[in-house]
Amino acid sequence: MNTPFSLEQLIESLRCLPGVGPKSAQRMAYHLLQRDQAGALRLADALRGALEHIRHCEKCNSFTEQEICGLCSSAKRDTSLLCVVETPADLLMMEQTQCYRGLYFVLMGRLSPLDGIGPKEIHLEKLLKRAQDGIVKEVVLATNFTVEGEATAHYINELLKSRGMKMSRIARGMPVGGELEHVDSGTLGQAVLERRLF
Ligand SMILES: [Zn+2]
Repeated sequence: MNTPFSLEQLIESLRCLPGVGPKSAQRMAYHLLQRDQAGALRLADALRGALEHIRHCEKCNSFTEQEICGLCSSAKRDTSLLCVVETPADLLMMEQTQCYRGLYFVLMGRLSPLDGIGPKEIHLEKLLKRAQDGIVKEVVLATNFTVEGEATAHYINELLKSRGMKMSRIARGMPVGGELEHVDSGTLGQAVLERRLF
């Protein structure tokens, strides 16, 4: 059996997606070619468009098409509070609680030395600068309650506390090992309100 070169390329490329092995990559490729060529074209365009236009916000590090994202430039937010989360999905979860009116910093990951993710990969230098802009009065750590999330919170806490920053951690209404993404917004909202000084 010889697979055409461009088909092989497509299958190989699809494998960059998390959780996609050779079998499912093959299935996806066949599906796109046989059943949904219009969808395949849309996907190709959307990928190119996103790669060309999406960048990191200068302030919060989340994804945006502008230099400063809409949330960071909103006049309605409390600029004295800075909440640190792992991912843009966690930021959305925090927003859904409607309990937090401050600003954010998105790490785009968590410390995980075994996977080669250190302070540089989670943009700690940018966070350090952001937190010390003279306007932020409190940094709220809202990383996940997983081993890596806790380690990340402790690391950031040490870093900023030694520079005189007031630090807090969202409360443990959250389940042990809990990820923000999988907690209902009521529980997460309560955890924000009951945050404790770190
Ligand atoms: Zn922003």
